[in-house]
Formats: sequence, structure tokens, C-alpha cells
Amino acid sequence: MLIMMQSDASREQIDRVCERIRELGLTPNEIPGAMRLAIGITGNKGPVDPAHFTRLAGVQDAVPVSRPYKLVSREVKPESTVVEIAGRRLGGGALAVIAGPCSVESKEQVLATARHVREHGASFLRGGAFKPRTSPYDFQGLREEGLMLLAEAREATGLPIVTEVKDTETLPLVARYADVLQIGARNMQNYSLLEAVGALGKPVMLKRGLASTVKEWLMAAEYVAARGNYQVILCERGIRTFETLTRNTLDLGVVPLVRGLTHLPIVVDPSHGTGVAQAVGPMARAAVAAGCDGVMVEVHPRPENALSDGPQALTFDMFAQVMDDLRKVAGALGQPVA
Ligand code: PEP
Ligand code: MN
Repeated sequence: MLIMMQSDASREQIDRVCERIRELGLTPNEIPGAMRLAIGITGNKGPVDPAHFTRLAGVQDAVPVSRPYKLVSREVKPESTVVEIAGRRLGGGALAVIAGPCSVESKEQVLATARHVREHGASFLRGGAFKPRTSPYDFQGLREEGLMLLAEAREATGLPIVTEVKDTETLPLVARYADVLQIGARNMQNYSLLEAVGALGKPVMLKRGLASTVKEWLMAAEYVAARGNYQVILCERGIRTFETLTRNTLDLGVVPLVRGLTHLPIVVDPSHGTGVAQAVGPMARAAVAAGCDGVMVEVHPRPENALSDGPQALTFDMFAQVMDDLRKVAGALGQPVA
């Protein structure tokens, strides 16, 4: 159930509606909109009777919500969410490009990459300091030292940082440095981590799980929103299929559909989505054509020496070319590059 308040509803009237929701043993979730405030009700097992609310002062309407993911659904909030990150925006029309190495490896590597991607028009720097690796013997990241290097690169370039948080134990540390907390594909259904980043209130980028349906992905986003954090960006990064030529199968077909289901912005990651550097540029172009709000790509000064994901890393020259191409595709669709 969604309670639409009148555009001139007072704070007292809103509080009274929230109180009524709590009296029924349910949870009110205030959802600010461009025109008016809506209050989403969660915690109900079955339908809620609108008559509990329609007579309360300041209430315009009480409408049922059919989707199981309520707070992130477009039914509850028709206008698209724009996530504000350190003075920059993700969503809301312009194309955002997030670029950087898979892992932070050294000061020289991350600074050179940050400067290069900035010069060519990226609006965010990515880089992993805590890496979720399939093998426990692989490079696990520079951890806090990596976060400090990312902060240095932010200082040098002004680019906000997107970096992965692997668990609740390291969340306070990672959150001190990150502008956007990335939840990796392997952690999409780590519900305690989702709740913790929800409570923290920092922007979150939620990757789609390796074998997750769109519904499961949106339910994971709902965990974050249910804790009051609506600053969530979805990231399609490919799913596991029978194909072995690519590392994952980039599921671009869901981009226009997800846009209809949720108000949250959608980013596409063709690096993990293909695993092959030559395929990254073409699939980034396809993602823009499919209507995403942003693209995330991995870039490395010397991919052959990368400590993780070298085969999918763009060289500096390749990244410059990708940016030129994305400007053309976005421009043809009337979308500016942020
Ligand atoms: C990454 O972005 O480097 C990463 C580990 O991504 P994913 O969680 O999509 O595998
Ligand atoms: Mn990677």
C-alpha cells in the first residue's frame, strides 16, 4: 500500500499517517517525490484496507502496490531517482562513466589511471581495495592501503570513488573512504551487508548476482531501501550461462525492462559482462543504446601485468577510443555525457 499525501500536507498530518501505520503493526517509509510525499507501507502479509487512511487529513489517495519490491518500484515513485555523489549526479539524463582498475595495485598505477580516465571524461573512479577472488591464493587487494591510494587519487583528480565492500566487518573502514559502496555480484544476497549499507545511508552500487533473476536483484535493492537508503544504483554485470567464450553473458535485454520496473538508476559493466577487452567497447556502446544511466569499465596502464582481471582491462588508448565512441552514441540519442 502506498499513501499519497496532498502536495500541501503538513508535517503533523504526515506524522499522523505514520502513527496510524505503526498502530496497525506495519512500517511507514517516507518517499520524497518532486510534487508530493508518498508513504510506502511495508511489513504487511496481505492487502491493507485503504479505509484506514483515506479519511485522515492530508491524504490524497491510498493505492495498493502489486510488486513484491515496493520501495524501489516505479509504482511507488514514478520519477527516476538521481543519486547525488559528492556533487556529481548519477541518473537523471546524463551518461555517467565509471572507470578505473579492477584492483588498486600501486600509487603509480591508480594515479596514472585516475588522471587518464578523468582527462577523457570519466566522472567516477573505480578500484577495488578488498577483492572477492574465486581463489583464496589470488591477490586479495591492498585493503586499507588501497583505500588510502584511492583517496589520494580522488584528491588529485576530483573524481569520487566507487569501491567494493566485502563484509560488514570492514564496512566502517571502507565507508570512511568510499563515495559509493559497491556490493559485488557474489554478495548481492548477503542480507546483513545489504541491511548494514542501508542503515549507513551512503550511495550504494548493487551488482546483479551471477545467477540472479531481476526480481531477486530488485528484492536485494529493497533490503537497502527498507533501511531508509534510496541512494541505490543497480549494475548489470553479466550472468552465468552455458557460454564459455565470454566470462559472463551481458544481459542487456533487461536494461529497458528494469527501467520500467524501478525508479533506481542502472549502470552496465561490460568488463565483467564479457571478460574480453576487445568486447568491452562495443558492448559499452550497446549498453548506452539500450538506455542505461552509466557505464562502468576496467582500465589498466599495463593490462598484461594486472594483478586481477587483466584480460578484460582496457588500455589507456582503448579507453580514450571508447569515450569518443560513447559520446557519439549518447549524442545520437540526445543524451549528454556527464
Ligand atoms: C569488480 O567490479 O571488480 C567485481 C569484482 O565485480 P563483480 O562483483 O561484478 O564480479
Ligand atoms: Mn574486476
